[in-house]
Amino acid sequence: MNWKPILSSMRPYAPGRSIAEVKRTYGLQEVHKLASNENPYGTSPAVAEYLRSCADQFEMYPDVYTSGLRADLANYHEVDPNELIISNGSDEMVTIISRALLQPGANTVMASVTFPQYAHNAKVEGAEIRQVEMLDNGDHNLEGFLQVADEQTAIIWVCNPNNPTGNFLPSQTIKDFLDRAPKTALIVLDEAYFEYVTSSEQEDAMRWIHDYDNLLVSRTFSKAYGLASFRIGYAVANEGIIQELNKVRNPFNCNTLALGAAEVALADQQFLKDCVTKNETERTRYVAYAKENQLAIYPSETNFVLIEVPVDANEACEILLQHGYIVRSGNLLGTPGFVRVTIGTEQQNTGFFKAFDQLLTNK
Ligand SMILES: *Cc1c(COP(=O)(O)O)cnc(C)c1O
Repeated sequence: MNWKPILSSMRPYAPGRSIAEVKRTYGLQEVHKLASNENPYGTSPAVAEYLRSCADQFEMYPDVYTSGLRADLANYHEVDPNELIISNGSDEMVTIISRALLQPGANTVMASVTFPQYAHNAKVEGAEIRQVEMLDNGDHNLEGFLQVADEQTAIIWVCNPNNPTGNFLPSQTIKDFLDRAPKTALIVLDEAYFEYVTSSEQEDAMRWIHDYDNLLVSRTFSKAYGLASFRIGYAVANEGIIQELNKVRNPFNCNTLALGAAEVALADQQFLKDCVTKNETERTRYVAYAKENQLAIYPSETNFVLIEVPVDANEACEILLQHGYIVRSGNLLGTPGFVRVTIGTEQQNTGFFKAFDQLLTNK
């Protein structure tokens, strides 16, 4: 068959190990998945209530215009409904944007390391990938971005805070970058962890879309809202950008139940606030633990940390697995010597530190 040649050098997404599989393999009663940055406190209890009471007409296609959630998001973010696009997770947003803008002859600029789906989608579309090494502290090297960007640059990806480092760039830094970035490139601000940021230097970037008509700001219900299983992401940008993206979007890309669940979750801002507060408290424990044990840790503004391990990262993951903790090896993320750990509940983190102690005594 005539596959795109690039596919021979690509692999499907490698998922982390599942709780059930780890329980079976290691004979464990209790396993904690701290690998995919899911919300350890679940989701708003109102979502389960909504699903139980749901009397949707399941034989009908979803609303193509996603009017319910669209209206709520437009209201919440104070944007026009036509300045919004809703996707099957922000993963699909990356695909939609790439499909609309990338092609052979075009290039796309991103950090190394950052969210792998940007490069993955660029490969599929045949675009050139220009990766700019991160600074020593883990920040995006935005000066470097400006140096490699040119008229053929179709998309610049700014992941803020960045996955897998957790690093956060202040709003002023982003705005200075937007002022200088080529106007011919779409600047995608991927804010999957926006809600978790507690720095006072974060403004709401969605308010900037009228100042920068090449800016798109992307968020998701998968992380702080705890709705990863439902796959709902969204973005705001000028209507002209949204219009073009809608041309490549599959018409019924989000299902009815997921759209309803997201509406209910959005309405429960108190749940979100509580999660963010608990996460911040627990995040400081990771920083303290790293300091105590002289381990490097990136400055996270998210619900995960990238922390140094005293042995090979794969080996560290294996030992942590034996103690019932699933985390992500830095070897897979482009950060060897580190593991990425989703910040769990107080109890989970206490257990995790105990398991991690085993790595330190064995080194
Ligand atoms: C998790 C994550 C996403 C994907 O989120 P979904 O909405 O679940 O597809 C996008 N960008 C970054 C940086 C992420 O960490």
